[in-house]
Amino acid sequence: MTARDAALAAVTAPLLELRSVAKVFGGEVTALDGMSLSLRDGEFVSLLGPSGCGKSTALRLIAGLSQPTRGRIVWSGEPTLGVVFQEPTLTPWSRVFENVWLPLRLRGVSRKAAERDVLEALELVGLSGFEKAYPRELSGGMKMRVSIARAMVTHPKLLLMDEPFAALDEITRFKLNDDVLALQEKLGCTVVFVTHSVFESVFLSNRVMVMAARPGRVVSEIEVEAPDRRSAEFRTSAQYAEQCRRVSDALRAAMEAHA
Ligand code: ADP
Ligand code: MG
Repeated sequence: MTARDAALAAVTAPLLELRSVAKVFGGEVTALDGMSLSLRDGEFVSLLGPSGCGKSTALRLIAGLSQPTRGRIVWSGEPTLGVVFQEPTLTPWSRVFENVWLPLRLRGVSRKAAERDVLEALELVGLSGFEKAYPRELSGGMKMRVSIARAMVTHPKLLLMDEPFAALDEITRFKLNDDVLALQEKLGCTVVFVTHSVFESVFLSNRVMVMAARPGRVVSEIEVEAPDRRSAEFRTSAQYAEQCRRVSDALRAAMEAHA
């Protein structure tokens, strides 16, 4: 490959590819089989499917927290990622600052050297001024914001989110949906978002990957048609309703065909 070819490949290559990935637990439970997925730089992709279809398993494989039984996961560059789980998983006896500092501390960055990045990450999620608070003093939505700040403090290229807002009330969830889109626009990161909500997946994503169970894999892929910047108006638009119907139909078809 010439240098020019290599440069071109780097521009056009997907950020990350899952190639026919399988994950079998204990030699018995086939959580995923033939799972393929290609992620382009800067896009927002949702994994949508019923409970037990392997969404979390797929996310954990992408995160490198577990290894595929078969198939390959290919990054086009250095893998850098942040993960947000459904539970905010904050350390209760540490203040907000220490919780967000953690990924940097694990890399040997001192409190002083980390300070700017930690405060910036907190500002990004709308929590400036809360650095001295303890998790117990925060609402569920605010804890989730701290968890997002912690995932972003290292400036990862890829943000992985596993049903992060499922436990929150609808109003808080809508606000966090808006804020995640704003954050992605500001940082230009790629996002893989796991959800079982059709409405949430359509509001957030450029592409929705519909998954089916037994074995878990992607059975259809839908490009969401939406304005460049999504707002409260989009949520109540005819276009949004139409996209939700498309995705909902695909999900129903997937569940019927693979019941
Ligand atoms: P989802 O996130 O879509 O609800 P999961 O990825 O959690 O689904 O699970 C997919 C399947 O794999 C389920 O049948 C689940 O019981 C099984 N599974 C997940 N993790 C493990 C594990 N560590 N050991 C055994 N089985 C597992
Ligand atoms: Mg899950």
